[in-house]
Amino acid sequence: MKVVKFGGSSLATGEQFNKVVSIVDDDSDRKVIVTSAPGKRFDGDIKVTDLLIQYATAVLEKTDYKEIVDNILARYQEISDYFELEDSTIDKIKQKLESLATDKYSDEDHLMATFKAHGELLNAVLLADVLNSEGIKAKYLDPKEAGFLVGGEPNNADVLEETYLNLSKYKFGDEKIVFPGFFGYSEDGHIYTFTRGGSDITGAILSRGFKADMYENFTDVDAIYVANNHVVDHPAAIQKMSYREMRELSYAGFSVFQDEAIIPAVQGQVPVNVKNTNNPSAPGTLIVPEQFLFNPANPITGIASSKRFSALYLHRYLLNKEVGFTLQLLKIFYRYGISYEHMPSGIDDLTIIFDRSKLDATTIKNLCNDIKETLNPDYLEWIDDYAIIMVVGEGIAHTVDTMGKIIDSLTQNNIAIHMINQGASRISIMIGTQMKDADAAVQHIYDTFFNN
Ligand code: ASP
Repeated sequence: MKVVKFGGSSLATGEQFNKVVSIVDDDSDRKVIVTSAPGKRFDGDIKVTDLLIQYATAVLEKTDYKEIVDNILARYQEISDYFELEDSTIDKIKQKLESLATDKYSDEDHLMATFKAHGELLNAVLLADVLNSEGIKAKYLDPKEAGFLVGGEPNNADVLEETYLNLSKYKFGDEKIVFPGFFGYSEDGHIYTFTRGGSDITGAILSRGFKADMYENFTDVDAIYVANNHVVDHPAAIQKMSYREMRELSYAGFSVFQDEAIIPAVQGQVPVNVKNTNNPSAPGTLIVPEQFLFNPANPITGIASSKRFSALYLHRYLLNKEVGFTLQLLKIFYRYGISYEHMPSGIDDLTIIFDRSKLDATTIKNLCNDIKETLNPDYLEWIDDYAIIMVVGEGIAHTVDTMGKIIDSLTQNNIAIHMINQGASRISIMIGTQMKDADAAVQHIYDTFFNN
C-alpha cells in the first residue's frame, strides 16, 4: 500500500486535479491520498493558506473579510466547475468556510490554526468528491476519526506517539482514503497545525502509522538534483539517496523537504519517492534506509549551500590545556537560551556556528560582551559573512580522496576555506566560506565530481 501526498501546486487548479486523478487511478496501491491546500497557479499568485491567514487576521481585527472569503471560495469553485460537480460539494465548502468566522475559539492561536487547516481540509473534501465523480471510490477521512493526535502548540504541533497505534488499528474498506495534510487534533479536540509546509509531515506520519510500502511525495520537479539549479546549470538528478543524506542536505539548504518532515517515514523505514505530478512516469528520486545503498559509484550525492549562518570565532593560547573553557561557554549559551549548530575546534581556536535567523543584534552584542568578560579570550570575532557548503554522500565514508579533491577544487579556484569539518556522521563534509564565494564553491565541487 502506498501513501501519496500531493503538494499545493499539484492541487491548484482543475487541470492539476485532473492529473492527480489519473495518477491515483493508475496504481491500485495508491490507497491513501494526502492533500495540501491549493497553491500558486502562477508566479505572484497567493496560496489558499495565505488567504486563510488573511481571513483569520481580518476576523481577529474585526475588519471586513467578505472579499477574502469570496477569493478563497473561488479557488475551490474553479476546481468544482472543471469537473462539473453537483452544487452540494461547493455548498458544503462554502458553509464550512463561512462558519469559521462565527465559530468559538479558546484564543487567537486556536482560531488561527483552525482557519489555516481548512486549506487542506476543504481540498480533501473536494478531492474525495472529484474522485467519486470520476468513478474512483473514495472517502474523506478526518484526522479526528483516524485518531491523528498532536501536542505542542496550536500553530506548531508535534505528533503524539499514540497516533501511530491509532492509525495501525484503522480498518480500510475498498475505497481510497483522502486525508488532509498539515494538521491534527489535540487531546482536547482542537485543531493544531504543523509548521508551514507541514503536509509532508502528515504523509510521513500516515506512512509509518499505516505501515505503507512506499510514501510517494508528488511535487512539481522531476527529481531532487545534486545541486541547486539556480547555482549549477542543469545539475544531475539524484536517483537514489539515503534518509540521512536527505536530512543533511535539507538542513543545509535543499528545499524539497524541511529537515524534520520525513522523520516519521524514517522511523517506520518506509521508502520515500519524490515524483512529479506533471511528469508522473519519470522515476523521481527514491529515498531509502542507508543499508540499501552499497558502494555508490560516486561518493558524493548532493552539494548544498546555505547563507543563513553566522560564526563566533574565539582564540585563546593553550586552550587545549585549559579545563572548563568550553563548559563556561556552553553555560553562557544556555543562559541565553541559544542553541548552536556546529563547534569545530583547533588547538587554540574554537568556532561556533549559529543559525543567524534565530538571533537578533542585541542578543549577539550581549552574548559577545558576556563571553569577553567571563572567559577573557585573546581574540573574539563575530562573523556574519559566513556560508556553509555541505557536501553529502554515503560514499564519503568509503573513500579516502574525497576531502582532498574538494579542497583542491576550491583552492585552485582561489576560494578561501574558513573552516572544514567532516561531520560526525561520516557522510558529510562541511566547509565554511565567505558568502560571496558560496555559489562558486558549489559549482567547482560539482564540476569535480560530476562534470568529468
Ligand atoms: N498549506 C500549508 C502551507 O502552505 C502546508 C503545506 O502546503 O504543506 O504551509
